[in-house]
Amino acid sequence: MTDHDIVIVGAGPVGLLLACELSLCGARPLLLDKRAEPGDLPKANGIGGQILDVLDHRGLLERLSAGSPFFGVPPGFPFGPVPLRFAGLDGIPLRMLMIQQPRLERLLGERAAELGVTVRRGREVTALAQDADGVTVEGPGFAVRARYAVGCDGGAGRVRTLAGIGFPGTTDGEVLRLGHFRAPGESGDPFADPGFAGLRPGWNRTPHGRLLITSLQPGVRVAGVRERGSREQDGPVTPAEFGAAVRRVLGRDLPLGEPIWLSSTVSQARLAERYRAGRVFLAGDAAHLFPAGGSALNVGLTDAVNLGWKLAAALDGRARPLDTYEAERRPAAARALTLTRAQAVLDRLTGEDAEALTAVLTEVFAFEQPARHLAALLNGSDVRYGDGAGHPLVGRLVPDLPLVPDAGGGARRVAELLRRPRFVLLHLAGELPADPVYAAAGLDVVRARCAGPPADALLIRPDGYVAWAGTDGLAEAVREWLAPVAGAAPAGRTG
Ligand SMILES: Cc1cc2nc3c(=O)[nH]c(=O)nc-3n(C[C@H](O)[C@H](O)[C@H](O)COP(=O)(O)OP(=O)(O)OC[C@H]3O[C@@H](n4cnc5c(N)ncnc54)[C@H](O)[C@@H]3O)c2cc1C
Repeated sequence: MTDHDIVIVGAGPVGLLLACELSLCGARPLLLDKRAEPGDLPKANGIGGQILDVLDHRGLLERLSAGSPFFGVPPGFPFGPVPLRFAGLDGIPLRMLMIQQPRLERLLGERAAELGVTVRRGREVTALAQDADGVTVEGPGFAVRARYAVGCDGGAGRVRTLAGIGFPGTTDGEVLRLGHFRAPGESGDPFADPGFAGLRPGWNRTPHGRLLITSLQPGVRVAGVRERGSREQDGPVTPAEFGAAVRRVLGRDLPLGEPIWLSSTVSQARLAERYRAGRVFLAGDAAHLFPAGGSALNVGLTDAVNLGWKLAAALDGRARPLDTYEAERRPAAARALTLTRAQAVLDRLTGEDAEALTAVLTEVFAFEQPARHLAALLNGSDVRYGDGAGHPLVGRLVPDLPLVPDAGGGARRVAELLRRPRFVLLHLAGELPADPVYAAAGLDVVRARCAGPPADALLIRPDGYVAWAGTDGLAEAVREWLAPVAGAAPAGRTG
């Protein structure tokens, strides 16, 4: 007898979104977190990349972007020390949403509450055991039994360790101290930031490290100091320690203002050996840590959206999609790791050689083609699930085509078809093959028109990726993704 369908360990952004996805699929997740209260350390300042399209599918983008100081295609992006400029280029796929992590977690927490997710705080998971039917997670004073468990417990990844999954990679030895300071004159617009006290906006390199000056919300200055050679770990920093780090790197004091918060983090580049051990899965920072900014939430939140519907399908006796989770998401993280390692190594170099390399790359990246290519990589547009066979859209995130509904109240764009995770057969042109297989699978068939349809029909997965496109082979695709595995008894859901 199990208490819950799924137990999620960690109510950070990834655990919260996974819980929302599972709830939308009709499953009953239980979310456990060791913290008594939601986190208030503003780690991430923003989300960028394809996950914004997926959040849009679920109707969450509007909520998250309300009041944001910036949402859209950024005029540029710091690729390590090398500026990428997108201003003036049409069709750049990369969008960024400035949102502080505590606000992101609060809004996802509100969404989870609306969906009836149970969150239990002050529960630190310290033990885990699994058998053929389920998983038991335990901590001081509690034990929970569920069919599956997911470790969304961040880079330290207790669940990962308890499940015996290795986390190879490197710890940088470079420390980033980051702080927010009260500064009434700051605009809050990072792209209008004039710099400060002789430092240019963004990262400034010195012989002893690097110093970040920017502003992400009105009245608040963001400063960061990166330096090598310290053994400190993640954690709080005192104003005196922050000031000393500024002096070591810059050679002088900076009147940054009254600190709001200060923290320190050590950069790591790591990828879990596996994303699954039996009934235990990993998602988010528990599965991957990137040594440069901008990718972690894109990859981590996409893990959650990829995993949610697959776990729900497995509860209903369709276990096959769940077997694709690691095969789809681990390569996506490996790709982001390559991209962030490249930024990190450029960042770490110092001296005249570094200046020369930065100067050459700055010239190359100023050309349109490299800028477009890197924008697509940072967006995650190169992620393609599956073997690359078939129609070019298969395995890609579905484009948000403007639609003209054929009959009935219908959606005006593809995103509106995916407000909840479900398979949609979008019929855009020609005749659909009459096949009882997909009729029997209970597929939602939507007939609509669009200008220049990319295919006669698209089978869209619950996470917004295209499972099949074209005219031939629909029945096989439906069988592959929607049919129960022969002989597999539905696991059922807890009542
Ligand atoms: C300074 C800094 C700046 C960053 N900036 C960006 C950025 O701009 N853009 C971006 O995309 N990313 C950024 N990141 C990375 C981003 O913050 C992480 O990728 C994100 O927090 C990962 O979310 P998560 O839910 O996987 O894990 P976490 O946010 O780490 O959440 C893990 C949760 O698990 C809980 N937990 C841990 N262990 C246990 C246990 N044993 N039992 C129960 N609960 C447990 C924790 O309390 C926590 O609530 C930044 C990170 C830092 C440190």
